Order: sequence, then C-alpha cells, then structure tokens
Amino acid sequence: MKSLIVSPSGVRGIVGKDLVPEVVVKFARAFGKLMNEGKIAVGSDTRTSNEMFRYAAFSGLLSLGCEVVDLGICPTPSIQLMVKHLRVQGGIVITGSHNPVEWNALKFVRSDGLFLYPEEGKKLLEIYNNPIPQVSWDKIGTIFKDSSAIDNHLRKILKVVDREKIRKKKFKVVLDACNGAGALISPLLLNELGCEVTKVNCTPNGIFPHSPEPVPSNLGELCRIVKNEEADIGFAHDADADRLTVVSEKGKALSEDYTLLLTTRFILKKSKGLVVTNVCTTYALDEVAREFGCEVIRTKVGDIWVSSLMKEKGAVIGGEGNGGVIIPQINYARDGIAAIALLLEYLTQENKPVSQLADTLPQYFMVKKKLRASSACFTRIEQRLKGEFEKEKLSFLDGVKVKKKEGWVHIRVSGTEPVIRVIAEAKSKLEAEKFAQWAIKRIRE
Ligand code: MG
Repeated sequence: MKSLIVSPSGVRGIVGKDLVPEVVVKFARAFGKLMNEGKIAVGSDTRTSNEMFRYAAFSGLLSLGCEVVDLGICPTPSIQLMVKHLRVQGGIVITGSHNPVEWNALKFVRSDGLFLYPEEGKKLLEIYNNPIPQVSWDKIGTIFKDSSAIDNHLRKILKVVDREKIRKKKFKVVLDACNGAGALISPLLLNELGCEVTKVNCTPNGIFPHSPEPVPSNLGELCRIVKNEEADIGFAHDADADRLTVVSEKGKALSEDYTLLLTTRFILKKSKGLVVTNVCTTYALDEVAREFGCEVIRTKVGDIWVSSLMKEKGAVIGGEGNGGVIIPQINYARDGIAAIALLLEYLTQENKPVSQLADTLPQYFMVKKKLRASSACFTRIEQRLKGEFEKEKLSFLDGVKVKKKEGWVHIRVSGTEPVIRVIAEAKSKLEAEKFAQWAIKRIRE
C-alpha cells in the first residue's frame, strides 16, 4: 500500500497494486461517516476499473446505513452539479482524470457541489484511520439509480448561453473525448448548439487511444482531422471532462492555458468582475483582466483553493491554466463542457476564426522543470531567497515565487511526487529558460 497517494483532496493509486476495492470500501465508509450517514451520490468516468470501484463505494456506504444514489458514468462536473441539485449530503467521484489508464482515484464532494475543503479532508483521513462500526442487517442502506445528471448539466449550460445565436453559425466542430465521460455529454451539447460534429474517440469505453491529458502533444489526431475536415474548431477533454483544450481552424492545438484566457476575455466583456486563479497560471491572465480594468487574485495550487475563493469573493470567472475553467453561473467546479458553450458563443459574438482570437492574446512563454529533491532542501532554498530579495519581490503563498520585471519563477515541493517543481514564465522562451536555470542553480547550491 506504500505508493497509495492519500491527501485531504482525495486518494489515488495504481489499480490492483495500491488502489484496490478494500481501500475504496473503507474510504467510502469514512466519507459516509463524515457526512453523518446521509444520502450520498456516486458517479464515475469511463475507466475499466470504475465498475469495480463503484460497487465497492456502494458497499462501503450501504454498510454504514447510507442511502446511495447511483449516477452511473458521468463527467466530474456533472456529478458535482447533481450533488447540489439532488440536495444530497455529498458525492463520491471515481475518476483518474487526466492520469494514465492504470490509475484511478476518489474525490469527495460537499453538499454545495464543491470538493471537500482541506480541513474537511483532514477530518476524513482521521475517520479513515480509525475503526468505523457498521450497522446490523436491519439498518443497511438502500440504493437507487438516477440517470439524469447529464440532462441536468446540459440544461444548466444551455441557460447561460445564447443558444439561438450560436445555432445560426452552424459551426463545424471536431470533438476528441479520449473515450472518456465527455463522450456522453459534449456531442449532445454541440447538437443542441446546431453544430455539425465529427466525433473522434467518443466511445465511452475507458480505452484511451492516447494519453488522456489534453495537452497539445497528445492531440495530433484531432489537429489532423480539424484541418482535413476544414472545421471551425476542435475540442479535447481529459477522461472526466473537467478540462478542455482548443484546436484552431488551422489544425493547431493551443496551449491549455488559452482556454481560460479566451473564456475570461469573453466573460469580462459581458460583465466585469473579479478573476481567481492559482499562483502558477500565466500572467497573460492579468493582462486580459487589465484590458477591462479587472483584478486577478491568486490562490495556492489545487482547484478547491480557486473554487472556494471564487465563491467567497463573488468572482465572475476563474480556473486553472490546465484547461480547467470555473463558471460560477453553473457551479464552482472546473467544467470543460460549459467551456465549449462559452467559447462557441465567443466565436459567434466576435465573428472571427479562433486562431485570430488567440493571436490577440498576450504572449508569454512558460518552462516547467522538476528536480529530485527533498522538502528539507526546499526550506534551505526559502531561507536563502529571503536573504537575497526584498519582500515585494517574493511571494510565499504556495512555495516561493520570485517576481522580476521580465517575468517570474515559482519553486514548490510537489504534493504528489518526491520532486521540487520549477515553473518560469517570461515574454520570450529564452528568458523563461534563463529564469528556470537561475532557480535550479539556487536549488542545487
Ligand atoms: Mg480531469
């Protein structure tokens, strides 16, 4: 069980090695207990291990006397929204998200549709690490199926965009769902929006034709098809469709942070307000917000930090540079499906091809490195940098961020691997690379 990764945000591991049904039963029971043995919804993405883990989660919850709602296979944002809609006490999402096929994970949802806050996650682990008594035969919980999560999500998305205007454009769209849960909803959304859809990898069988992380290097097939079909745009999801990456009409995959940049520009144009993102997201977002006189607030890395601050501050949009856009009108959850609808409305409104819209965004270059190093070594780096820089050039929100006129570099201990992550951004690739090397030199000193 050594390499099972357990953190307040959930549990993940390699199926059959670290993540086995027994672990899922116990986690489900711990979560049922945390939610006071209430009603719990359970859903999953399409991975081949999901059936096994869904039944394990049912078993754990039923043994505690919980009522269980089986949502079946759905995208993570559909499950989060359904938890809120059904007014149940919580939800369990079984998804390995963008990780390779051998991985799977559990994420836990609060009654308001957000993931557990870190302090609740800590409580969950405390319960998990202690014996949890189970109920007698006459108090075992009940289970029923509810297959309306996708319809509910679609309805909500269609309410926030101008469907008729988009329909008139008759967009030609190619969608790559990586045979994940997005295959069950995004083609329906595109049909509703009057698009002519070419489906690529839209069989929801969990057999991934390429790595499920929607980064440009994994989207060669989608790029080719967009170009060959002369489509207006291409979209790619990860396995649970909370993320979205865009391919331009020229068949070029845009870097994943463009999804947040484009949707933010569209939203701020409609209604000005606060934008929230994490400390590692591109500074291009600040520039986009400044075009409208708006502010960007940054949080620690982790979607719960972004969602919870957005809710607290009433932000109009937020998300992460990985293609995870959070639209408060729908839910405080990363939602790759809703992002499709917003982007099509943006294209409709601007009446320009997506490559032209992308070209007008501020250009930055990001370099990401990881170094094998311990967290003790990280403390030394922190001390050294404190001695070298004045306060206003350093941020300790999450790790250390050094800000210079030309860009920034962020050094942080990974929460999931025994490495230190170094991310640098500047106006040129050379400058970003120089920043990263500067930081690496200090780490190794
Ligand atoms: Mg995901």
